[in-house]
Amino acid sequence: MTPVIALVGRPNVGKSTLFNRFTRSRDALVADFSGLTRDRKYGDGKLEDRPFIVIDTGGVSGFEEGLDAAMAEQSFAAIDEADAVLFLVDGVTGLTGADAFLAEHLRKQNKKIWLVVNKTDGRDPDVAMADFHEMGLGEPIPIAATHNRGVLSLLESVLEAF
Ligand code: GDP
Ligand code: MG
Repeated sequence: MTPVIALVGRPNVGKSTLFNRFTRSRDALVADFSGLTRDRKYGDGKLEDRPFIVIDTGGVSGFEEGLDAAMAEQSFAAIDEADAVLFLVDGVTGLTGADAFLAEHLRKQNKKIWLVVNKTDGRDPDVAMADFHEMGLGEPIPIAATHNRGVLSLLESVLEAF
């Protein structure tokens, strides 16, 4: 069985950067502004002999209007399709309302979830992680996607579950 890994989280947390790390491609558009990836994007990757499929999403903002609603739909669809959900949050900005909105949705799904705190580079990890313990989605995992820090061990822990 080839596991399908969905990357979800609000815009700008680093989903496309992580997608590129996992697929070793520059296919997913990485941007300095929010909401650029508006559709789901599929890629395949391999860790040693273990193949997997990864889905990049536009992000969930937690608001129910226009483009935001469309992005939320895409994220929910990706979650439905996935065997593993990587819920990305931002260690710089901390916990937001949009994170809480998505967390509430995820708690109702019967999916394997990894709570991933990105952008922990140059920060005290204890401070970056403090907010996220209370989300009730398990132990948060620190990474820095742009620095490739924590990325391989995260992927290993996901693939080990299958
Ligand atoms: P997405 O909207 O969730 O797909 O986020 P992107 O992957 O497009 O990244 C949004 C911004 O965050 C870009 O400017 C990235 O370079 C930056 N970014 C992503 N990962 C990290 C990280 O680990 N550390 C820092 N400092 N910036 C990051
Ligand atoms: Mg993106």
